[in-house]
Amino acid sequence: MTVTTVRVPAKVNLELSVGPVRDDGYHDLVNVFHAVSLFDEVTAEPADELSVSVEGPSSVPTGPDNLAARAATLLAVHLGVAPRVALHIRKDIPVAGGMAGGSADAAAALVACDALWGAGLDRETLLELGAQIGSDVPFALLGGTAVGLGRGERLTAVEVTGEFHWVFGYADGGLSTPAVYAECDRLRAASGRTPHWPNVSDDLMAALKTGDAAGLGRALDNDLQPAALSLRPALDSALAAGRELGALGSIVSGSGPTCAFLASSASHAGELAASLARTAHFAEVRQACGPVPGASLV
Ligand code: ATP
Repeated sequence: MTVTTVRVPAKVNLELSVGPVRDDGYHDLVNVFHAVSLFDEVTAEPADELSVSVEGPSSVPTGPDNLAARAATLLAVHLGVAPRVALHIRKDIPVAGGMAGGSADAAAALVACDALWGAGLDRETLLELGAQIGSDVPFALLGGTAVGLGRGERLTAVEVTGEFHWVFGYADGGLSTPAVYAECDRLRAASGRTPHWPNVSDDLMAALKTGDAAGLGRALDNDLQPAALSLRPALDSALAAGRELGALGSIVSGSGPTCAFLASSASHAGELAASLARTAHFAEVRQACGPVPGASLV
């Protein structure tokens, strides 16, 4: 094979339940991931040495820090080969937007290089390598809708009926995930309340199983949202604007600042996207649906 291209989706967290800080500094999470139809594309081509080029925002690193480069290096070490590959990333997932774009690119690079180097690793091994890069990488490999335990990397697929229609509002500029977790801890310490043990809501699971968009809209829940709003107060009115315009539910995606709005149908999502684009809340408004498959060769 001379060139491989992999398409990989963004995720939104339908529920993000954050437990207390663990001794290792991470939080125990219960996370309901949902892959949506906003895609990055990673192309892998044979080369003398590892390189990364990016089509999209200039804030994405092109050196060894790029998560796709880290994935290619890790896979090469695992296989005992040299990482002789030129990776090209076409970005459509917002950077530092709470939609796991970097993790998605890492997942895509694992699948692309596995094919390029003819390794044929099984899914389980790719998931294990992905988890070594970051806790959101395994879900980008799996796609669909899944509950993630631990740091989010221990995944169980969730049964979903039909598809859900979404509108995403991209902000101008991202939020750092570690900063949002730190703010979450700070707000919790200031409130004096002990963080609850993370759990998944039965109402959310029932809505996914029956394809009940209104029920899903009511059940959307993100424990990081207060922290994202504290760091970016303008998000509060952005979420309210979506609700006023008829969204079934509105939520900050992961650590933010992307806002996710649930619509009742594809045409409702189209109308909602057009209305939100006319407000001044977002740098860009996009329509998408989910669930969609994880990183796949095209
Ligand atoms: P998450 O939802 O997983 O917390 P995010 O979507 O908020 O992450 P990313 O887009 O994954 O954030 O980017 C976080 C940081 O990772 C960026 O600021 C960037 O410096 C770095 N990064 C490394 N590799 C990539 C990549 N391939 N694409 C985007 N960012 C990358």
